[in-house]
Formats: sequence, C-alpha cells, structure tokens
Amino acid sequence: MLKKLFRKEVYAAKAYVPGKPIEDLKRELNINKIEKLASNENPLGPSPKAMEYIEKEIKNINMYPDSAAIKLREKLSEKHGVKIENIVVGSGGEELIKNIAETFINPGDEVMIATPTFGKYATDVSFLGGVVVNIPLNKEYKQDVEKIIESVNEKTKLIFICNPNNPTGNIMTKSEQEYLIKNLPQDVVVVFDEAYYDYAIKNDEYPETLNVLKERPNTIILRTFSKVAGIAAVRLGYLLTSQEICEAMYKIKLTFSVNRLAQAAALGALEDKEHIDKTVELNYKSLALMEEYFDKNKFEYIKSNANFIFVNVNMDSKIVFQKLLEKGVIIRGGFLWGWNNWIRVSTGTIDQTKIFIDRLEELVKN
Ligand SMILES: *Cc1c(COP(=O)(O)O)cnc(C)c1O
Repeated sequence: MLKKLFRKEVYAAKAYVPGKPIEDLKRELNINKIEKLASNENPLGPSPKAMEYIEKEIKNINMYPDSAAIKLREKLSEKHGVKIENIVVGSGGEELIKNIAETFINPGDEVMIATPTFGKYATDVSFLGGVVVNIPLNKEYKQDVEKIIESVNEKTKLIFICNPNNPTGNIMTKSEQEYLIKNLPQDVVVVFDEAYYDYAIKNDEYPETLNVLKERPNTIILRTFSKVAGIAAVRLGYLLTSQEICEAMYKIKLTFSVNRLAQAAALGALEDKEHIDKTVELNYKSLALMEEYFDKNKFEYIKSNANFIFVNVNMDSKIVFQKLLEKGVIIRGGFLWGWNNWIRVSTGTIDQTKIFIDRLEELVKN
C-alpha cells in the first residue's frame, strides 16, 4: 500500500548535512572563540561598498527585483567586454550549476567531472537522471586532460572543469586548457567554474577563458561574488556564455531568484577594487604561512591558487576535524571526498592562520 510518492532520484539523493551554527558550538564546547576556516569565506568581511549599497536599497524591498538584473548585467558586460546577452545572473553559483543541469540534462546523458571536485555538479546532474563519469586526478593531483579527452563518447553532454579545483586549489594551466579544447568535439558543453578567479590570476599560467568562449560557443564560465567580494550570504553568481545558451537558461530560471539586496551588493562590490586587492594580498600571506609550517613538518600539500589549501596531515581527518573543533578551529576533513588523511583549510587573517597552525601543532605533538 505504501506508494512511492517521490521521484526516484529523491530516494537516491543524500540530505545535505549543514554545519552547526557557531553560536551553538561555542555553548556546547564551552569556548568563546571559534575560527571558521571551512567554507572559503572572506576573512576581511564583506566589501564595504557592497554594504553601503545594500543600506541604500533596503527601503525598496517591498518591490520585486528587476528579474533581468539589467543594471548589474550592464556593469558586468562592461567589465568583461561581452554583451549583456552573454550573461546570466543567479542566486549564487550554486543556483547556476543547478540551472545548467536543468538546461542540458536528459536522463542518461553523461557528465564528466574530476574526482575530487566541488560536490554540487554530481548532485545536480544525478538528480536529473544524468550519469556522472568520474575522472580521477592524475599523479600530480591535476585534472587529467588526456583521460577526459579519451573518455568522451556520443553520450557526453557536459564537462565541468573546476579551475582552480575545489578542494585541491591547483589550476588547470592555459596550455592544458588549450589542449583540452582543441581535442574536444564542439557539441560538448564545457563549464569552467572560476569561483576563485581573482586569486588564481596571480598565477601567470592561469587561462583567460573568455578567449575560449569567443571561439567556442558551447563554453560556460562561472564566477561568484561569494568568495573574494565577501558577500556569500546575499547570494550572487553569474555566467558568461553564448547568447543561445543564455536564452535557454533564462527560460528555465526562477523569475525573481536574484533579490534586490544581492543585485545592489554586487554593484557595490564591482566598484570595490581596493577590497579585492586587500583580500587577495592577505590570501597569499596566509597561504605562505601555512606552506612554511607544512614544509617544516614535511606534510605533503598541493600548491594552491585559491583561498584554501589541501594538505596531507598523516592523521585520520575525521579525528583531526573533531580535535581541532574542540580547540576552536573548524576545517574540512578530506574524508568528505574520500581522502582520509587530508584536510582542506581556508585562508584567514594572519591571526586566524597562526591559531590554526598552533592548534594543529598541538595535535601533531601528541
Ligand atoms: C563557492 C563555490 C561556488 C559558488 O558558490 P556560491 O556561493 O553559490 O556562489 C561555485 N563553485 C565552487 C567550486 C565553489 O567553491
């Protein structure tokens, strides 16, 4: 008699387990300060200009937002030298990844992703009945361009390239990207997730993917205001792609998912180069401190061009996670990706970084 009410993909899906609110943790663990180095947030806080623009916009929240986000797309179009018809904005990159799946995936379509990589791609693709094809990183922990090319078949619909890759933080270089693109069929859609673009461009070998888009319409570039701009809470991400893909995506998008405060905040953040510069500068200082410590302890780590670092601490990351938590530092355990002795640590202020290093050192000593 028990009728299965949900779509079969709902039964197969795992529920998202949210992290505990910091306030609750403090009470439970009886500590007064917690350093959260787990979600790649901006340790300097939000862009001040974004906050200023939100304040000005607050009195208008009785009215629906501009569903086409014209003003914001105009600014983005100036910034990137593309037309507004090439830009889709969304409620965070997260919504756009879902929108991509909803736009392209028929049941049985294959989607290639690296493993490990950002978890959202597989979740959203599977949910729509797409088949995820996992391509392990190569021996240098890089996305395996050769293997990706070899694995393409007539069912391949999409390829997600997270660049820099999350959780490893390393980049696909310009020449690797060129080689990939040259050897892929034109009708495979390639998504370059560049959530950490502003950090990564400090590396001369990081590609300018807009040049790929100009030659190859089935290319999608994803960017977000959650990381370097520091406005993760208000939710704003965008895509640069061909007009054809853009039009298709606007058909399936929620009309008002990008709210007024998010649009205002993004307009502010776009004017705030100073905040970005400071953030990126601090990021590389924090990374350098951690690298120095890891080198000293002979911990293997992957060279990062993002605002986090993936390191092998030679200990069970479930235990490391729990012990660091009890000492007031939250990180991500590599067990989440099946890399049991690795941890992913977000960069922080210099103080936060030193606290993390001290607490980890206490674990190492015992
Ligand atoms: C953070 C992140 C995003 C987007 O996050 P939003 O907050 O939803 O904009 C996308 N891709 C990767 C790899 C990320 O780390």
